[in-house]
Amino acid sequence: MKPATLRVKRDIYERTRQKMLDDQLIARGITQNEVLHAMLTVPRHLFVAEALHSQAYTDYPLPIGEKQTISQPYMVALMTESLGLTGAERVLEIGTGSGYQTAILSMLVEKVYTIERISVLAAKARRLFDDLHCSNVIVRVADGTTGWPDEAPFDAIITTAGSPQVPSAYIEQLKTGGRLIIPVGDEESQKLLKITKRADGVTTEVLGGCKFVKLIGKHGWQAEKRESC
Ligand code: SAH
Repeated sequence: MKPATLRVKRDIYERTRQKMLDDQLIARGITQNEVLHAMLTVPRHLFVAEALHSQAYTDYPLPIGEKQTISQPYMVALMTESLGLTGAERVLEIGTGSGYQTAILSMLVEKVYTIERISVLAAKARRLFDDLHCSNVIVRVADGTTGWPDEAPFDAIITTAGSPQVPSAYIEQLKTGGRLIIPVGDEESQKLLKITKRADGVTTEVLGGCKFVKLIGKHGWQAEKRESC
């Protein structure tokens, strides 16, 4: 398999996407051409509700329902660029959410395995992947904190929800030389980590501060109990 060629119709947001690239991504130091091209191509507005289409290219995260968010464009670009992709990778993504990050990855790698714990979000994302011809994406509804053992090892793993610690399965399921990008910290703020698996251990680099929704599951945060009425 090779990276997907998305089927994208012309739309009224082409200039807005170029402006997003110039003002938010290039201005902040994103340089990898393939990443910039993917972000220029993927129609981000389709990943949010119609009422939010006109805000889809602004410089912040937006709600996608189920108390979850689509990440800020710059954060998607930074995380994607930090994975150091060359086109032949099999990538695991935890937290499909809207599917926007997944669609970007689908243009850049051989195959994307993505896990979402909320089935309605996964179903919506699947429909978009079909519409856009993201033909190299497999979606699974599950607790992603245990990874995807049957498909391991992966060249890269990206977690788009914040975790109190690094789930050990992610390191185990990386190839030697593989990269993991994950926000780690408390509920209010996290550090975005890039962890590289080496033959003799791991190296960790802090890419900056960030704030993601919670990674909820066996090796993440506990699910909140339903409030009684
Ligand atoms: N990359 C997404 C960001 C979505 S927000 C986008 O661009 O839209 C993070 C997502 O992680 C949420 O949809 C949330 O439901 C999901 N999530 C949280 N914990 C998870 C877990 N243990 N396994 C799989 N998905 C999880």
